[in-house]
Amino acid sequence: MDISIVVPLFNEDESLPHLAEWITRVMNENNFTYEVLMIDDGSKDHSWEVIERLAAENPCYKGVKFRRNYGKSAALNVGFGHAQGDVVITMDADLQDSPDEVPELYRMIKEEGYDLVSGWKKKRYDSKIAKNIPSKLFNATTRRMSGIKLHDFNCGLKAYRRDVVKSIEVYGEMHRYIPVIAKWAGFSKIGEKVVQHRKREFGTTKFGMNRFINGYLDLMSIMFISKFGKQPMHFFGAVGSISGLFGLISLIVVIILRLSHVISLTRSVWFYLSMLFLVLGVMLFLTGFLGELICRNSSTRNQYLIEKELLNE
Ligand code: UDP
Ligand code: MG
Repeated sequence: MDISIVVPLFNEDESLPHLAEWITRVMNENNFTYEVLMIDDGSKDHSWEVIERLAAENPCYKGVKFRRNYGKSAALNVGFGHAQGDVVITMDADLQDSPDEVPELYRMIKEEGYDLVSGWKKKRYDSKIAKNIPSKLFNATTRRMSGIKLHDFNCGLKAYRRDVVKSIEVYGEMHRYIPVIAKWAGFSKIGEKVVQHRKREFGTTKFGMNRFINGYLDLMSIMFISKFGKQPMHFFGAVGSISGLFGLISLIVVIILRLSHVISLTRSVWFYLSMLFLVLGVMLFLTGFLGELICRNSSTRNQYLIEKELLNE
Protein backbone atom coordinates (compact mmCIF):
# COMPACT_ATOMS: atom_id res chain seq x y z
CA MET A 1 0.00 0.00 0.00
CA ASP A 2 1.33 3.45 -0.95
CA ILE A 3 -0.33 5.79 1.50
CA SER A 4 -2.11 5.75 4.87
CA ILE A 5 -3.92 8.94 5.72
CA VAL A 6 -4.53 9.36 9.44
CA VAL A 7 -7.25 11.85 10.40
CA PRO A 8 -7.77 12.63 14.12
CA LEU A 9 -11.18 14.19 14.64
CA PHE A 10 -13.40 15.50 17.39
CA ASN A 11 -16.89 16.73 16.52
CA GLU A 12 -16.32 17.31 12.82
CA ASP A 13 -19.40 15.73 11.24
CA GLU A 14 -20.02 18.63 8.87
CA SER A 15 -16.52 18.59 7.41
CA LEU A 16 -16.01 14.83 7.08
CA PRO A 17 -18.07 14.11 3.92
CA HIS A 18 -16.33 16.95 2.04
CA LEU A 19 -12.92 15.84 3.26
CA ALA A 20 -13.53 12.22 2.26
CA GLU A 21 -14.74 13.17 -1.19
CA TRP A 22 -11.68 15.34 -1.75
CA ILE A 23 -9.23 12.69 -0.50
CA THR A 24 -10.80 9.99 -2.68
CA ARG A 25 -10.61 12.24 -5.73
CA VAL A 26 -6.90 13.03 -5.20
CA MET A 27 -6.05 9.36 -4.56
CA ASN A 28 -7.86 8.15 -7.67
CA GLU A 29 -6.38 10.84 -9.90
CA ASN A 30 -2.89 9.74 -8.86
CA ASN A 31 -3.58 6.00 -8.84
CA PHE A 32 -2.40 5.54 -5.28
CA THR A 33 -3.29 2.46 -3.28
CA TYR A 34 -4.38 3.87 0.05
CA GLU A 35 -6.31 3.69 3.26
CA VAL A 36 -7.88 6.48 5.29
CA LEU A 37 -7.87 5.91 9.05
CA MET A 38 -10.41 8.14 10.75
CA ILE A 39 -9.82 8.23 14.48
CA ASP A 40 -12.87 9.57 16.27
CA ASP A 41 -11.60 11.06 19.51
CA GLY A 42 -14.86 10.62 21.43
CA SER A 43 -17.08 12.90 19.32
CA LYS A 44 -20.49 13.82 20.70
CA ASP A 45 -22.00 14.68 17.31
CA HIS A 46 -22.69 12.46 14.28
CA SER A 47 -19.06 12.02 13.19
CA TRP A 48 -19.07 8.28 13.84
CA GLU A 49 -22.20 7.71 11.75
CA VAL A 50 -20.50 9.55 8.90
CA ILE A 51 -17.43 7.33 9.27
CA GLU A 52 -19.56 4.18 9.26
CA ARG A 53 -21.22 5.31 6.07
CA LEU A 54 -17.90 6.14 4.41
CA ALA A 55 -16.47 2.74 5.38
CA ALA A 56 -19.52 0.96 3.98
CA GLU A 57 -19.21 2.80 0.67
CA ASN A 58 -15.46 2.48 0.23
CA PRO A 59 -13.34 -0.29 1.81
CA CYS A 60 -10.31 2.04 1.87
CA TYR A 61 -12.00 3.96 4.69
CA LYS A 62 -11.46 2.63 8.19
CA GLY A 63 -12.39 4.01 11.59
CA VAL A 64 -11.65 3.74 15.29
CA LYS A 65 -13.86 5.39 17.90
CA PHE A 66 -12.66 6.30 21.38
CA ARG A 67 -15.13 5.96 24.21
CA ARG A 68 -14.24 9.46 25.40
CA ASN A 69 -12.12 12.40 24.34
CA TYR A 70 -8.44 11.61 24.90
CA GLY A 71 -6.85 14.31 22.75
CA LYS A 72 -5.27 14.65 19.34
CA SER A 73 -2.02 12.92 20.35
CA ALA A 74 -3.85 9.80 21.49
CA ALA A 75 -5.81 9.70 18.24
CA LEU A 76 -2.63 10.04 16.19
CA ASN A 77 -0.88 7.36 18.20
CA VAL A 78 -3.66 4.85 17.57
CA GLY A 79 -3.74 5.78 13.88
CA PHE A 80 0.03 5.25 13.65
CA GLY A 81 -0.38 1.82 15.21
CA HIS A 82 -2.82 0.70 12.49
CA ALA A 83 -1.18 2.39 9.49
CA GLN A 84 0.04 0.03 6.76
CA GLY A 85 1.06 2.40 3.96
CA ASP A 86 4.69 3.04 2.97
CA VAL A 87 4.06 6.72 3.61
CA VAL A 88 1.83 7.86 6.45
CA ILE A 89 0.20 11.27 6.16
CA THR A 90 -1.63 13.01 8.99
CA MET A 91 -4.24 15.61 8.25
CA ASP A 92 -6.76 17.61 10.31
CA ALA A 93 -10.41 16.85 9.67
CA ASP A 94 -11.60 20.45 9.51
CA LEU A 95 -10.64 21.04 5.84
CA GLN A 96 -7.93 23.52 6.86
CA ASP A 97 -5.34 21.14 5.36
CA SER A 98 -5.62 20.43 1.66
CA PRO A 99 -5.49 16.83 0.34
CA ASP A 100 -4.02 18.29 -2.87
CA GLU A 101 -0.68 18.44 -1.04
CA VAL A 102 -0.56 14.66 -0.62
CA PRO A 103 1.09 13.67 -3.94
CA GLU A 104 4.01 16.08 -3.45
CA LEU A 105 4.50 15.03 0.20
CA TYR A 106 4.50 11.40 -0.93
CA ARG A 107 7.10 12.18 -3.57
CA MET A 108 9.38 13.96 -1.10
CA ILE A 109 9.40 10.93 1.21
CA LYS A 110 9.74 8.34 -1.55
CA GLU A 111 12.15 10.06 -3.91
CA GLU A 112 14.02 12.64 -1.87
CA GLY A 113 14.51 10.26 1.04
CA TYR A 114 13.02 12.36 3.82
CA ASP A 115 12.02 10.62 7.06
CA LEU A 116 9.50 13.30 7.86
CA VAL A 117 8.12 16.26 5.95
CA SER A 118 6.20 18.87 7.89
CA GLY A 119 3.72 21.26 6.36
CA TRP A 120 4.35 24.98 6.75
CA LYS A 121 1.27 27.18 6.82
CA LYS A 122 3.18 30.17 5.50
CA LYS A 123 -0.04 32.11 5.04
CA ARG A 124 -2.45 31.27 7.84
CA TYR A 125 -6.16 31.84 7.94
CA ASP A 126 -6.66 31.86 11.70
CA SER A 127 -7.20 34.64 14.20
CA LYS A 128 -4.06 36.78 14.59
CA ILE A 129 -4.06 37.23 18.34
CA ALA A 130 -5.18 33.78 19.43
CA LYS A 131 -3.13 31.75 16.95
CA ASN A 132 -0.64 33.48 14.66
CA ILE A 133 1.40 35.51 17.13
CA PRO A 134 1.58 32.92 19.97
CA SER A 135 2.47 30.28 17.45
CA LYS A 136 5.43 32.34 16.13
CA LEU A 137 6.77 32.48 19.68
CA PHE A 138 6.18 28.79 20.24
CA ASN A 139 7.93 27.85 17.00
CA ALA A 140 10.94 30.03 17.76
CA THR A 141 11.39 28.44 21.19
CA THR A 142 11.01 24.91 19.91
CA ARG A 143 13.44 25.64 17.07
CA ARG A 144 16.09 26.85 19.49
CA MET A 145 15.64 24.08 22.03
CA SER A 146 15.51 21.21 19.56
CA GLY A 147 17.88 22.46 16.88
CA ILE A 148 15.39 21.48 14.16
CA LYS A 149 14.98 24.16 11.52
CA LEU A 150 11.22 24.07 10.98
CA HIS A 151 8.96 27.11 10.74
CA ASP A 152 5.73 25.39 11.77
CA PHE A 153 6.02 22.48 14.19
CA ASN A 154 2.33 22.27 14.93
CA CYS A 155 1.01 21.90 11.37
CA GLY A 156 -1.51 19.05 11.24
CA LEU A 157 -0.41 18.09 7.76
CA LYS A 158 2.73 15.96 7.92
CA ALA A 159 4.14 12.98 6.05
CA TYR A 160 6.26 10.20 7.51
CA ARG A 161 8.11 7.14 6.34
CA ARG A 162 6.34 4.19 7.92
CA ASP A 163 9.37 3.28 10.09
CA VAL A 164 9.11 6.65 11.79
CA VAL A 165 5.54 6.30 13.03
CA LYS A 166 6.18 2.73 14.12
CA SER A 167 9.16 3.83 16.20
CA ILE A 168 7.70 6.74 18.12
CA GLU A 169 5.06 7.13 20.77
CA VAL A 170 2.89 10.24 21.06
CA TYR A 171 0.86 10.97 24.18
CA GLY A 172 -0.37 13.90 26.29
CA GLU A 173 -0.15 16.92 24.04
CA MET A 174 3.05 15.82 22.39
CA HIS A 175 1.63 15.95 18.85
CA ARG A 176 3.14 19.43 18.61
CA TYR A 177 6.61 17.99 18.99
CA ILE A 178 6.52 14.95 16.72
CA PRO A 179 9.53 16.25 14.73
CA VAL A 180 11.46 16.54 18.02
CA ILE A 181 10.43 13.04 19.08
CA ALA A 182 11.36 11.68 15.65
CA LYS A 183 14.75 13.36 15.74
CA TRP A 184 15.41 11.96 19.16
CA ALA A 185 14.51 8.48 17.85
CA GLY A 186 17.25 8.90 15.23
CA PHE A 187 15.28 10.10 12.20
CA SER A 188 17.14 13.23 11.31
CA LYS A 189 16.25 13.90 7.67
CA ILE A 190 13.40 16.27 8.42
CA GLY A 191 12.05 18.50 5.67
CA GLU A 192 9.45 21.15 5.18
CA LYS A 193 6.94 22.02 2.48
CA VAL A 194 4.90 25.20 2.19
CA VAL A 195 1.26 24.13 2.18
CA GLN A 196 -2.05 25.79 1.44
CA HIS A 197 -4.02 26.66 4.52
CA ARG A 198 -7.71 27.42 4.51
CA LYS A 199 -10.26 29.00 6.80
CA ARG A 200 -12.23 26.68 9.03
CA GLU A 201 -15.60 26.35 7.30
CA PHE A 202 -17.50 24.24 9.81
CA GLY A 203 -17.34 23.82 13.58
CA THR A 204 -14.92 25.60 15.89
CA THR A 205 -11.31 25.23 16.96
CA LYS A 206 -10.70 22.65 19.69
CA PHE A 207 -7.62 24.28 21.17
CA GLY A 208 -7.77 27.30 23.48
CA MET A 209 -5.08 29.38 25.14
CA ASN A 210 -4.18 26.73 27.73
CA ARG A 211 -2.43 24.81 24.97
CA PHE A 212 0.54 27.16 25.38
CA ILE A 213 1.12 26.37 29.03
CA ASN A 214 0.76 22.64 28.45
CA GLY A 215 2.80 22.96 25.29
CA TYR A 216 5.82 24.41 27.06
CA LEU A 217 5.63 21.88 29.88
CA ASP A 218 5.56 19.10 27.29
CA LEU A 219 8.59 20.58 25.54
CA MET A 220 10.47 20.55 28.82
CA SER A 221 9.53 16.93 29.48
CA ILE A 222 10.63 15.91 26.02
CA MET A 223 13.97 17.67 26.25
CA PHE A 224 14.56 16.28 29.72
CA ILE A 225 13.59 12.71 28.87
CA SER A 226 15.65 12.72 25.71
CA LYS A 227 18.74 13.99 27.53
CA PHE A 228 18.49 12.26 30.89
CA GLY A 229 15.66 9.72 30.58
CA LYS A 230 18.02 6.77 30.60
CA GLN A 231 20.52 8.23 33.09
CA PRO A 232 18.72 10.49 35.61
CA MET A 233 21.76 10.46 37.89
CA HIS A 234 23.69 12.51 35.32
CA PHE A 235 21.33 15.37 35.98
CA PHE A 236 20.25 15.02 39.61
CA GLY A 237 23.62 13.73 40.75
CA ALA A 238 25.44 16.65 39.16
CA VAL A 239 23.12 19.36 40.46
CA GLY A 240 22.87 17.65 43.85
CA SER A 241 26.64 17.34 44.23
CA ILE A 242 27.22 20.98 43.35
CA SER A 243 24.55 22.13 45.78
CA GLY A 244 25.67 19.77 48.55
CA LEU A 245 29.33 20.64 48.15
CA PHE A 246 28.55 24.34 48.16
CA GLY A 247 26.44 23.89 51.30
CA LEU A 248 29.10 21.86 53.05
CA ILE A 249 31.95 24.28 52.34
CA SER A 250 29.90 27.28 53.31
CA LEU A 251 28.76 25.53 56.52
CA ILE A 252 32.37 24.83 57.48
CA VAL A 253 33.26 28.47 56.87
CA VAL A 254 30.29 29.62 58.97
CA ILE A 255 31.26 27.30 61.84
CA ILE A 256 34.87 28.51 61.76
CA LEU A 257 33.66 32.11 61.85
CA ARG A 258 31.39 31.23 64.75
CA LEU A 259 34.21 29.55 66.68
CA SER A 260 36.38 32.62 66.21
CA HIS A 261 33.44 34.72 67.49
CA VAL A 262 33.07 36.74 64.28
CA ILE A 263 29.37 35.94 63.82
CA SER A 264 26.50 34.46 65.75
CA LEU A 265 25.08 31.24 64.26
CA THR A 266 21.39 31.86 64.73
CA ARG A 267 21.54 35.39 63.40
CA SER A 268 23.62 34.58 60.33
CA VAL A 269 21.71 34.17 57.10
CA TRP A 270 24.69 32.22 55.78
CA PHE A 271 24.11 29.49 58.30
CA TYR A 272 20.57 28.90 57.05
CA LEU A 273 21.62 29.10 53.42
CA SER A 274 24.38 26.56 53.99
CA MET A 275 21.95 24.16 55.62
CA LEU A 276 19.46 24.68 52.79
CA PHE A 277 22.01 23.88 50.09
CA LEU A 278 23.31 20.90 52.00
CA VAL A 279 19.87 19.37 52.49
CA LEU A 280 18.82 20.22 48.93
CA GLY A 281 21.97 18.59 47.61
CA VAL A 282 21.35 15.36 49.48
CA MET A 283 17.73 15.31 48.33
CA LEU A 284 18.59 15.90 44.67
CA PHE A 285 21.24 13.21 44.88
CA LEU A 286 18.76 10.76 46.36
CA THR A 287 16.20 11.69 43.67
CA GLY A 288 18.77 10.80 41.02
CA PHE A 289 19.48 7.57 42.79
CA LEU A 290 15.79 6.67 42.93
CA GLY A 291 15.50 7.57 39.24
CA GLU A 292 18.32 5.16 38.45
CA LEU A 293 16.63 2.40 40.44
CA ILE A 294 13.38 2.98 38.54
CA CYS A 295 15.21 2.89 35.20
CA ARG A 296 16.92 -0.33 36.17
CA ASN A 297 13.54 -1.96 36.77
CA SER A 298 11.86 -0.52 33.68
CA SER A 299 11.00 -3.10 31.05
CA THR A 300 12.08 -0.74 28.26
CA ARG A 301 15.57 -0.09 29.66
CA ASN A 302 17.23 -2.13 26.95
CA GLN A 303 15.00 -1.34 24.03
CA TYR A 304 16.83 0.41 21.24
CA LEU A 305 15.66 1.32 17.77
CA ILE A 306 17.71 -0.74 15.34
CA GLU A 307 18.02 0.50 11.79
CA LYS A 308 19.97 -2.33 10.15
CA GLU A 309 21.41 -5.69 11.12
CA LEU A 310 23.93 -8.10 9.60
CA LEU A 311 23.76 -11.19 11.73
CA ASN A 312 24.71 -14.59 10.38
CA GLU A 313 22.92 -16.68 12.89
N1 UDP B 1 -8.88 17.05 17.53
C1 UDP B 1 -8.95 15.80 18.12
N2 UDP B 1 -9.08 15.71 19.49
C2 UDP B 1 -9.14 16.83 20.29
C3 UDP B 1 -9.02 18.09 19.68
C4 UDP B 1 -8.88 18.18 18.30
O1 UDP B 1 -8.91 14.78 17.44
O2 UDP B 1 -9.27 16.68 21.49
C5 UDP B 1 -8.73 17.15 16.06
C6 UDP B 1 -9.74 18.11 15.41
O3 UDP B 1 -10.98 17.48 15.17
C7 UDP B 1 -9.03 18.46 14.12
C8 UDP B 1 -7.56 18.49 14.55
O4 UDP B 1 -7.49 17.71 15.75
O5 UDP B 1 -9.20 17.47 13.13
C9 UDP B 1 -7.04 19.90 14.76
O6 UDP B 1 -7.89 20.61 15.66
P1 UDP B 1 -8.34 22.13 15.43
O7 UDP B 1 -8.67 22.35 13.99
O8 UDP B 1 -9.39 22.44 16.41
O9 UDP B 1 -7.02 22.92 15.79
P2 UDP B 1 -6.54 24.30 15.12
O10 UDP B 1 -6.50 24.10 13.63
O11 UDP B 1 -7.55 25.32 15.52
O12 UDP B 1 -5.17 24.51 15.73
MG1 MG C 1 -8.01 23.48 12.47
